[in-house]
Amino acid sequence: MRDRESGLVVVTAAGDGGLPSLAVGERARARIDLRTRMLHAALHTAGHLVEAVGRAQGWEMAGSIHFPGQARIEFQAPDTDARLADPEGREEVTAVLRSAVADAVADDLPVAAGHFSDGRRVVRLGALHSAPCGGTHVRSLGDLADVGLPTLKVKKGRIRVSYTATHRSR
Ligand SMILES: [Zn+2]
Repeated sequence: MRDRESGLVVVTAAGDGGLPSLAVGERARARIDLRTRMLHAALHTAGHLVEAVGRAQGWEMAGSIHFPGQARIEFQAPDTDARLADPEGREEVTAVLRSAVADAVADDLPVAAGHFSDGRRVVRLGALHSAPCGGTHVRSLGDLADVGLPTLKVKKGRIRVSYTATHRSR
C-alpha cells in the first residue's frame, strides 16, 4: 500500500511466521520474489488486454481481478447481444476475443505508464487501450505467453472472461 502524498509504502508480511519485530528506524532489507513479480506483471497486463478486447465488443467493464488462479475481467452483459444467450454463441464470441488477444500479442504492442493531469497513473497498450492502474506490467505484449481464455460465462447480468497468462522468458 502506498500513500500518494508521503510516498510511504506499507508492506504486510506474508509466509511462515511473518516478520520479526522491528523497531522504528531500524534498517530492514526487502527482496522482491522475481518469479512472483513477473507472474503478476503478466496477469495484470493480460487483464488490461482482455478489458481492451471486451470493450471493442461494445461491453462496459464492471470489475477486474488479476490474482493468479482467479484472474478475470467482468463486463455488463448487454441484453442486445444475442450471441451471449447460448453455448455456441458464447464459444463464438470467446473465439473472437482470443483472436484479438493473439493479434495484439503478435504485434508486440508496447506497454507504457504515464500520468493523467490529476496525478493518477495510466497504463497504455500501444494505441489500443489505456486505463488508470498502479500495478506492475510487462514491457510489451510480446512478453506474454500462454495467454488462455476459457469460454466466457454469463452470470447475473455480467459477462465473466477468465484468463491465464505467464511471462515469456526471452
Ligand atoms: Zn495494471
